[in-house]
Amino acid sequence: MRRTPALLAKLVAAVLVAGTVTAVAGTLLIWNLARSALQAEVSQGSAALAEELAIRIDGRLEAVADTLRVTATRGALTQPPPAAADAVRATLAASASYDELVVYDADGRPVAAAATRFLATPEDYPPRPGLVAGVTVGPQLAVLDAFPPVLEAAVALERPAGTVVGALLARLPLETVAEPIHQGNPSSTAVRFLVDGDGRILVHPDRDRVAEEQRFPPATAGGLARPTVMDVDGVPSLVAIAPTRLLEGAVVLQQPEAEALTPATRQLRQMTAALLATMIAAVAAVSVAGSYLLRPLRPLADAVARLERGERGVSVDVRTADEIGQLARQFNQMAATLDRRRDEIEELHRLSLLLGSRADRGEVADDIARGATRLLAADASAFLSGDDDNPRPAVLSGSADGRAVRAVAQACAQERTAVTQRGAAGENLLAVPVAAGEEGGGVLVVARAGDAFSDEDVHLAEAFASFAGVALQTVRRLELERALVHELQEAVDRKRDLLTGISHELLTPLTCIESFSSRLLDERDPPRAAERARLAAEIHQQASELDELVTRLLDLVMTERGQRSANTSAVPLRTVVSSAVAALEPVLGDRPVDMDLPEVQVLADPVLLVRVLTNLLSNAVKYSPPGTPIAVRARQQDGAVRIDVVDQGIGIEPQAAARVFKPFWRGPQEPTRPGMGVGLALAADYVHVMHGTISVDSTPGEGSTFTVTVPYAPQT
Ligand code: ADP
Repeated sequence: MRRTPALLAKLVAAVLVAGTVTAVAGTLLIWNLARSALQAEVSQGSAALAEELAIRIDGRLEAVADTLRVTATRGALTQPPPAAADAVRATLAASASYDELVVYDADGRPVAAAATRFLATPEDYPPRPGLVAGVTVGPQLAVLDAFPPVLEAAVALERPAGTVVGALLARLPLETVAEPIHQGNPSSTAVRFLVDGDGRILVHPDRDRVAEEQRFPPATAGGLARPTVMDVDGVPSLVAIAPTRLLEGAVVLQQPEAEALTPATRQLRQMTAALLATMIAAVAAVSVAGSYLLRPLRPLADAVARLERGERGVSVDVRTADEIGQLARQFNQMAATLDRRRDEIEELHRLSLLLGSRADRGEVADDIARGATRLLAADASAFLSGDDDNPRPAVLSGSADGRAVRAVAQACAQERTAVTQRGAAGENLLAVPVAAGEEGGGVLVVARAGDAFSDEDVHLAEAFASFAGVALQTVRRLELERALVHELQEAVDRKRDLLTGISHELLTPLTCIESFSSRLLDERDPPRAAERARLAAEIHQQASELDELVTRLLDLVMTERGQRSANTSAVPLRTVVSSAVAALEPVLGDRPVDMDLPEVQVLADPVLLVRVLTNLLSNAVKYSPPGTPIAVRARQQDGAVRIDVVDQGIGIEPQAAARVFKPFWRGPQEPTRPGMGVGLALAADYVHVMHGTISVDSTPGEGSTFTVTVPYAPQT
């Protein structure tokens, strides 16, 4: 069973593609945004930490300076140098902040020194003339090249009168000063170190790197405006630099960029995974939703498949009023129409087979009317034939208003196209022409009270009418063939009869001749003279009849070959008739012949016309009781002369009237009478070549009138 996977698949695929594209684009966008944001956040964090560390270092230096100031202020330098030295030593012993203290006099010469780690005699300390040049109170910081780096801090003091009386110097290991850079934010993996104003490393966790040159030139310019990514030892690194205020240098935070962004990358991965999961969930949701939405279409798809297989009565339940419900309703309508059309086609096929099997026009006409009633669900149908102006109902199936049927049939026959009308009683009428070629078909009229005829009905009726027309033609051909076969059979029969007749006709005179001649030749009892004469006359007579017989047969052959011609001239009618009557005198005997002949001339071959009349008169004698009168009448009629030969004999059956002129046709009782059935055929041929006509009007048992017309020849 076919489902609707294609639609569902397409829907899901479309959503998938759209979703994937959106998700990928979104992920890329978010990735970039998030990366930038996180980078910025990490940078800001680094910058803040670097600044804080710088501030702390400054704080530490401030503290050193404060202590020096306090020491100096306490009087170490207000006393004479030896005493000051003692005071310094005491101060150093009391303070944990300094490793050593040196006291210089106003000339910059060391006068006292105290140390916990280093040399502690004033001689160990070079003079510091610069110190006495200072006029401000505060730390003057310098960096020594020696290792370990040591920060030298000094305070120069002057008397209120403006005379510097001494300077106080503290030498601190730089590690101590830079100690704060190791404090705080232990989670950061950034390497923290201190550089001097030239970018040379002063303090670094990796001691080997101390004093490395010029690593971070921006530090000299007071640090970086903001952290930046730069190449450090071939590794892209995030670098934050914050300058110290009191120490000419800067705190540097350096971290490989990948490491700095690790948390961000992790977050982004999580985000991507979440996005993917959301996408998969969305696809699943769309599939389920699509399947749910498309489920109502499945019965429809199944129904279409059943329809394809040719099932009848296919329909689907209409459950909703939405588009799918509407689709289902339209499908049901379509399926019903399809069923109806199939029924119609099958019915049409059945009817065409039925019509094709008919051999009789009446049956065909009957089938046409009945079939149309069934095919078009009509109340009545009629098949009408006849001429266009006056179609006659041949067959009527069911009842219908005859006048309305004739009217629509007439309109259809005249227009030669389908016509629909409404009858007086409101019934619908449809007429379609039934064309049957030369033979003429007719008109099929269908009537029904209900629905009006649609275009489909008209087409159906026209299709049926074309089948009907073919059937009518077929039947007509069959009828013609049957008639031909019948005619041929008759001709064969006639020829057989003829042979029998000829044999008989020939045999009779031949037998006579043979017996008469035998008598003549009888030597034992020779005939006397009188008998010989009689026998000779008989033999002559029989020979003449044979001659006549053979002549007529040859004459007939001429007729059948169409070889005859007439030698016409104007001849007086009375002369011709008299010749015929005279020639028949032996046959007529005392039979009265009533003649009524005008004094006219006819345009005819006198020999042939005499033969025609002789034949008609001899038949009148042959086929009427002895003694009954025979009449020959003539009159002028429409440029011709009409001659009637009338007898009161046995007459001819109406259906045989046309056949009497066919060669070898003889009436049913004729075997008892002499003849071969060629006389009238010859007469018809003679008349024909003289441009005349011949016909018979007869009533069986009462008599016959044979009428011949020949052209009238005006007197000159
Ligand atoms: P035949 O007389 O030799 O049979 P015809 O051709 O003259 O041949 O006539 C054909 C047939 O027509 C006859 O066999 C006969 O049945 C019918 N027929 C001809 N003339 C008459 C007539 N006057 N009255 C009745 N039947 C006739």
